[in-house]
Amino acid sequence: MSIRLKVILPYLLLTLVVAVTGVYVVTRLVASSLSERLTNQLLEAGRVVSDGLARQDMSHLEAIGVIAYTNGMAEALIEGNSEEVYRLGFPAGASQGIEHLIIVDRLGQERLFLVRQKDGSYQSFSDMGTGSISMVQRLLNKPASESFLSRGIGKNPIDSRYYYYTAAPVTLNDNVAGVVMVGTSLDTIAPFLKSISLADVVIYFDQGSAISTTLGAMNKDTQFIHSLSIPDDHYMQVLSTVDIVTGETIEVDGRSYRLARGALRVSGENIGAFAVILPLNFVLQEGGDSRNFYVVLFMAAMLGVILMGYLISRLIINPLYTLVRASQAVAHGNLGQRSGIKSKDEIGLLANTFDEMTSNLQTRTVELQRTYHVLEQMDRTKSNFIEVSAHELRTPLTLINGYTQMLKTRAAQDPDLGSMAGGILDGYDRMIEIVNSMLDVSKIDSQTLKVSRSPVQSKLLILRVQKQLQPALDERKMHFLIHQSLECLPPFWADPELLYKVFYNLIINAIKYTPDGGVIRVTGRIINHANGSEIEMVVRDTGIGVAPQHQELIFEKFFQTGEVRLHSSGKTKFKGGGPGLGLAIAKGIVEAHHGRIWVVSAGHNEDTLPGSAFYVRLPCEGPGA
Ligand code: ADP
Repeated sequence: MSIRLKVILPYLLLTLVVAVTGVYVVTRLVASSLSERLTNQLLEAGRVVSDGLARQDMSHLEAIGVIAYTNGMAEALIEGNSEEVYRLGFPAGASQGIEHLIIVDRLGQERLFLVRQKDGSYQSFSDMGTGSISMVQRLLNKPASESFLSRGIGKNPIDSRYYYYTAAPVTLNDNVAGVVMVGTSLDTIAPFLKSISLADVVIYFDQGSAISTTLGAMNKDTQFIHSLSIPDDHYMQVLSTVDIVTGETIEVDGRSYRLARGALRVSGENIGAFAVILPLNFVLQEGGDSRNFYVVLFMAAMLGVILMGYLISRLIINPLYTLVRASQAVAHGNLGQRSGIKSKDEIGLLANTFDEMTSNLQTRTVELQRTYHVLEQMDRTKSNFIEVSAHELRTPLTLINGYTQMLKTRAAQDPDLGSMAGGILDGYDRMIEIVNSMLDVSKIDSQTLKVSRSPVQSKLLILRVQKQLQPALDERKMHFLIHQSLECLPPFWADPELLYKVFYNLIINAIKYTPDGGVIRVTGRIINHANGSEIEMVVRDTGIGVAPQHQELIFEKFFQTGEVRLHSSGKTKFKGGGPGLGLAIAKGIVEAHHGRIWVVSAGHNEDTLPGSAFYVRLPCEGPGA
């Protein structure tokens, strides 16, 4: 994961958690406070409805007062004069806009039954039987001194609508002369109550049946109104409760409403019950709105956090990227590259250290390159010297050889002289061998070594070397073993003469660096790869071994591990000195065949004799390789 993500992600997660919790808590708070507000509003609306009905009752009483105290009304009622009651009552009722006016005389005889029509005109009816209804009877049966009022809801037989009625006695000289009853349709009262309470209203009557409501469509039918009814026991419970109580949530026309119910009570008298209803959508709406608002707010906060995280990460990461680019350039060899970061923080410190390090590296590299060039030059001089001296030595050596041969022929009769000449010839052989090695090395150095390939049989190659070195092996009592695996190796294309030199050097070294009586073993195998096969031949000895730090160096020309002054001059003597060219030649030849040579040894120890194994691996190439 990139550092940028590592910086931003924790911030983001944290903000997300805070945002989700925040939105949840805030919307819960808003919703609960809104729901509380709704309840309060409902209760308030309920109180307003109760007051509204009382106000309606007051206006009834005022109208009754005007009619009852109209001059001559009481007398007309006592006389049972219907015409007079009509003459006095009609204008009094009509002028006050009374919807329904009933006047009954003291004997319960109906004297006026006036109903306001839809068009505002009044129509009177007779013999509607209102004198016997309980509201009227209750008043007629009381003495005038008790000044009783009667209220209730009833159905108007003319228009079959429910009305709220208030009835009061008409008195004359402390005697009840009759009763005046004023009614207002609930279809008028309910909208009025709605207008003052700002809530829809339902009015219940008689065992909980809903008889009027402002709720729903304009043309609401009785079935709809009836659907708002409540069970009888619930109705009785509402009537018995003093307070207004919040009730259930209802669905009308796909909208949700919350309602509260209370008793319709005027001057302590239960008239019926009502419900006030407020739509819930404004709670949901406001809750949703506030949730949306907070979601947007927190989203903005989150974006801010991401932006901040991004900016912070840029501040941290950009110098890091610069540092990475600089280090990549240095890794690709551009040591002149510097980060150029100058800040004083930890990254600046790191960049400074990096720049300093690169600068030191550059200085060292320049020094090393200079030294390398000097060494290269010296090596070239050395190679030239080897080549020149080898050529220079060959001529006198050839002379020495010629003359010594002649001397040996002439000394046929003198055995002492003959053996001296033989000694000179042995020295010549050794010297010419060294000179040839020098020439080989200079060819390898100048890459002029020629490889003439022909099929090589591994075992024959080793047998040839063995034959050459048999006297030395015998002298040193060495066991030379050629493993049978060598016989199984297929012939491979290589330069037999050059390979002879490789194994000659390896085996003569094995003789030299193994004490008398040691074992030298030569093994071989073929290694098959996907892209060809290789011949591997190994020369193992039970000698003094090679220290790990020398295992590469011994393949360099003139490298010798022991002290030069301690070397004996014997070619095959134990630890006998050589010019230090054998392995360099072997390596040069193997590499000219595109192969590899290396040594495996547990280390150098002249007491425990860990031994060495020299591996030669050559690709099986065709004749033209
Ligand atoms: P030299 O003429 O000294 O043998 P070489 O190039 O053949 O030169 O070998 C280099 C050095 O490698 C030797 O001086 C010797 O220390 C070490 N060396 C080579 N072969 C063996 C071996 N079989 N066991 C231990 N040391 C070896």
